[in-house]
Amino acid sequence: MNILVVEDEVELARHVANALVRAGHTAAVIHDGLEAANAIIAKAPDLVVLDLNLPSLDGFSVLQRVRKAGCTVRVIILTAHGEVENRVKGLNAGADDYLAKPFSMDELVARVNVLGRRGGAIAEGDVLKVGDVVMDAPKRKVTRKGEKIELSPREFEVLQILMKEPARVFSRNDICERIWQREHQYDTRTVEIFIMRLRKKLELDDGANLIRTVRGAGYQMAVNE
Ligand code: CA
Repeated sequence: MNILVVEDEVELARHVANALVRAGHTAAVIHDGLEAANAIIAKAPDLVVLDLNLPSLDGFSVLQRVRKAGCTVRVIILTAHGEVENRVKGLNAGADDYLAKPFSMDELVARVNVLGRRGGAIAEGDVLKVGDVVMDAPKRKVTRKGEKIELSPREFEVLQILMKEPARVFSRNDICERIWQREHQYDTRTVEIFIMRLRKKLELDDGANLIRTVRGAGYQMAVNE
């Protein structure tokens, strides 16, 4: 994969880039937030490793800018140890995954590879339809009432889980297990954030409750509108 490392700590950035190159990826490094936002939009890398604390533009603003520009690049944010709020804020701003500092290079490479695989691991000919939402999995395209909806890879995965079995109620745990399996300990509240993001993107004009919350049980695609 073509990866951009955005980190102002020069030594750390170099270590990360080297580890990614050793793992068979191409890696470029940028130390500045504003420069990074422009480069991501212009060059569309496959994945971005994004530190949050950056000069000129912080990581959250970089993410917002990039997502606003319609860019669906996969993003892993780097958070300082124990900063739960920043993790939630980062996921809300459109990140696909996070890594708490300090992390091992092995862990970083593993996360990058998982996110990369997920991006491409979708069965051919898999077009799902629930109500007026159509998911063309091979093209990674989602439309509602014919209008294209830009989703990040994680949002896409969560929606795909719900759309594959629309009658079924999925608990947060079910969704977590399907997406993250046993890679590492995940907070099931993360799922809530993705559901929130999906609802926001799917509710085009009528505010219809497309993803239903089943109290005490989980989430379900609303089949009848
Ligand atoms: Ca930093």
